[in-house]
Amino acid sequence: MPSRKSHIQIIAVGVTAFTLSLLIKAGPAWSAQSEQSGQAVDEEYTRLIEEATTEPEFLSPLTSYLPQVDGVPTPKDVLGYIVGAPGKLTYYADILEYMNALAKATPNVEVFPIGKTPEGREMVVVAVSSGEAIKNLDDYKALIAKLADPRVVKSEEEADEIIAQAKPIYWLTGNLHSGETGAAENSMELAYRLAVDENHIPKTIRENMIVLISPSVEPDGHDKHTDWFYKYNTEVTETDQITRVPYWGRYTFHDNNRDMISVSQFETQNEINAFFEFRPIIVQDNHESIPFLHVSSGTGPYNRTYDPSVTSEWNLIAWWEVTQLTSYGMPGVWTHGFWDGWAPNYLFAVANNHNALGRFYETFGNSMERELSGGRRPSKEWYRPVPPYEKVTWSMRNNVNYQQSADMSAFYLVATKKDFFLKNFWRRGRNSYEAGLNEPPYAYVLPAGQKDPVDVAYMVNILLKQRIEVHKATSSISVEGASFPEGSYVVRMDQPYRNLALNLIGKQEYPEDAPRSYDDTGWTLGLQMDVETVAVEDKAIFQAALAPVSEPVEAEGVLVGAQATGAYIVNNGTINTLLPARLKLKGYEVLAAESSFEAGGRKFDAGSMIIPVDRAAARIHQDVSSVATELGLEVVGTAAVPTVETHEMDIPRVAIFHTWSSTQADGWVRFAFDQLEIPFAMIDKDHLREGNLANEYDVIILSTSRGGSGADIVKGIDPEHRGPLAFVRSDQFKHLGVPDSSEDITGGMGIDGVSNLQKFVEAGGVLIALHNMVRLPIDFGMVRDVGIYDASSELYNPGSLFKGDVVNEKHPIVYGYGKNPTIYRSQSGPLLTIDERKEGNVVLRFADEDDICLSGIIKSEGELKGKAAIVDLPVGKGHIVLFTFNPFWRDLSHGAYQYVFNTILNYNDLGAGISTPATDEDMEGGGSK
Ligand SMILES: [Zn+2]
Repeated sequence: MPSRKSHIQIIAVGVTAFTLSLLIKAGPAWSAQSEQSGQAVDEEYTRLIEEATTEPEFLSPLTSYLPQVDGVPTPKDVLGYIVGAPGKLTYYADILEYMNALAKATPNVEVFPIGKTPEGREMVVVAVSSGEAIKNLDDYKALIAKLADPRVVKSEEEADEIIAQAKPIYWLTGNLHSGETGAAENSMELAYRLAVDENHIPKTIRENMIVLISPSVEPDGHDKHTDWFYKYNTEVTETDQITRVPYWGRYTFHDNNRDMISVSQFETQNEINAFFEFRPIIVQDNHESIPFLHVSSGTGPYNRTYDPSVTSEWNLIAWWEVTQLTSYGMPGVWTHGFWDGWAPNYLFAVANNHNALGRFYETFGNSMERELSGGRRPSKEWYRPVPPYEKVTWSMRNNVNYQQSADMSAFYLVATKKDFFLKNFWRRGRNSYEAGLNEPPYAYVLPAGQKDPVDVAYMVNILLKQRIEVHKATSSISVEGASFPEGSYVVRMDQPYRNLALNLIGKQEYPEDAPRSYDDTGWTLGLQMDVETVAVEDKAIFQAALAPVSEPVEAEGVLVGAQATGAYIVNNGTINTLLPARLKLKGYEVLAAESSFEAGGRKFDAGSMIIPVDRAAARIHQDVSSVATELGLEVVGTAAVPTVETHEMDIPRVAIFHTWSSTQADGWVRFAFDQLEIPFAMIDKDHLREGNLANEYDVIILSTSRGGSGADIVKGIDPEHRGPLAFVRSDQFKHLGVPDSSEDITGGMGIDGVSNLQKFVEAGGVLIALHNMVRLPIDFGMVRDVGIYDASSELYNPGSLFKGDVVNEKHPIVYGYGKNPTIYRSQSGPLLTIDERKEGNVVLRFADEDDICLSGIIKSEGELKGKAAIVDLPVGKGHIVLFTFNPFWRDLSHGAYQYVFNTILNYNDLGAGISTPATDEDMEGGGSK
């Protein structure tokens, strides 16, 4: 319970917005603060807080003053302005300068680096607590690390003993989305207040818990946004707001908050490593989008693998904050009704996924006149006791007041109920472990000998990044219903992160009657990566001979039959390193098999690489050997060149096109290419306008756009409000211009761009249109007999996994795939209508049978069944290849990369798959298909 002497009582008794405003206007509330604690108040800072707050009820007694302590700098002492001052955003280096100055001045603060960003900025955790706790931080971390493992702390009594010595650690992150700036600003004043304020609430927090603050978890984007703000956006109103800065991270924009499954980006890796280093039991990520403060608790359906105490703690803390801030007279604080709690891919999910608690805020962001209208105007509901105002003049300082008051309220609850939260944390680990001991499946096995060992290794490494324990079979395993060879990977479920293993490897079943999901409904890793996983329901698996896997694994490359005289052969197997292997062997003639075949006693897929020895240089043996080792491939040397139809695997020049309105759409494509070291040119609207494309590229990939029609894609960003909008580096704005730059990001490729793309294809180029980009060639008549299917509003599949059906198994695009690969599809992907005469051009479709959803949800399944997924349309001398799904989905859909890589590897032989090519000249077509 809060102390009765708390200053809160002075304000909170019988408070209304009106009486609070009187208190503040008449005799400042903060004078009560200083009287209560006897601590001096920084009068100037305090006056500026009041000035920057647009209405008195947007201030709470927690933030209505700032204490003054000799020798400890306030944010204003270092920055020259208060946190939340009008027209001010703070560059990342200046935030770090303040945090370091604070740490230098008080033993209650220390700054820890947690790893660098792609652009070299240091990410940090700022620890704030008592001097004693900061000094002994390692001991406190170790206590929670013990509590995290029920095999170490086995009983309630043992847990209680540790909890008596422990302090809860609470990690506050923010500014993940670079346009959501308040958390970064707030971090400085919050750290200061927690470090020095002698009033009851901050003092209780300091003495009973350890707060970790990361001012920005996307520092590269933070500085880009800050430059953009000072260059273009300092005085905006809602109607005059120009487009946002085009890049945040190197590859991701908003999806930096969807990376906690595969943990692909540097920033996410730093975050998950910091989570295990500092052992917070709560992670809170502060976002901005809706008025005035929304606290996450989720509408449900909640993720089925989350312990019941995760979701009840979400609600418990949320209601505490709603009640506390509402009692201060702050309007518009609410919970529920915004997000579901289903997907495990958000940054804060690092906590929920690992038996801790992950949560977030959404506040109203920047300073401006705001008018809520229509559906955006929140009503009074049981979960929204005092709705936000319909019309308001908002300020950054209001945003800071709301965030900081709620942050401290949440900290205070945890500080005063620390045993409760620590005990639940321990119990969740125990529950997860015991479920693994007592409920099937008892393990998942990734059998050795799969066709694509590279993706098997990739998936194992994701599990290891998640700290899921993985073992390797040291001999063959035989259990009821299955046997597995030596070398198989085994995920035993008797471990603390059993629930997460189940979450990532198992199937998702999103409830039929649930509200629309907030994000993906299905993400099953084995399906996404085309990796076989077997659920074992026999407890005998616990007796199998296993060795723990402690380091990241690699597919083991092997050269079978060195010094071959006929050929070296690499199976296709949809292995993502096949294209890199071709590139490394660029000096050699390499052939693609046009059908499956046998050689050297082995079976090979269509699309396998054959490198004839007799025409090759003497060093071929050494070169194929190093490719095998480096890329994890099995290369088989044979005595004779196999007899199978082949074509040459030429190496094309590849370009990846990006819009300026959705730079992470190509970001995920670029990420895949960069990871595999596949070179490409990054092109934008200006390159398409210039033309001459066929002279520079052989394959152009149009990454997906943010939706809209073909015309929207062609028009690009609206230049209406300002003239040229340059995203370029300058002496004044040195953070702009990477990873691509433009003197004007507005406007699109225009009709000239469309025309040049058409010329490119007619001259022999291959145009790959991904996801929404299929609208461009369709809407502008670059292809015939294909249209956009007008889906009903019943069709509903927000990110699910479906059974595919290879229609034309001889087509190069599906080389190496089995009959029924999995396809990830999200709601926003267009579907196609295909004229009968072009049915032969469908390479892959969604299976035409019942129950095609393998994980997630679909409604109105009949509309998806049998619809085309990939269509190859010859145009002139070239091809336009339409993908109605996105094969580069958030570093998860590794099983689908090879469709694009096969297209690249066989770019000038795609016709090999179309036995009776239907071309645009084939107008009379009718009879044959
Ligand atoms: Zn956000």
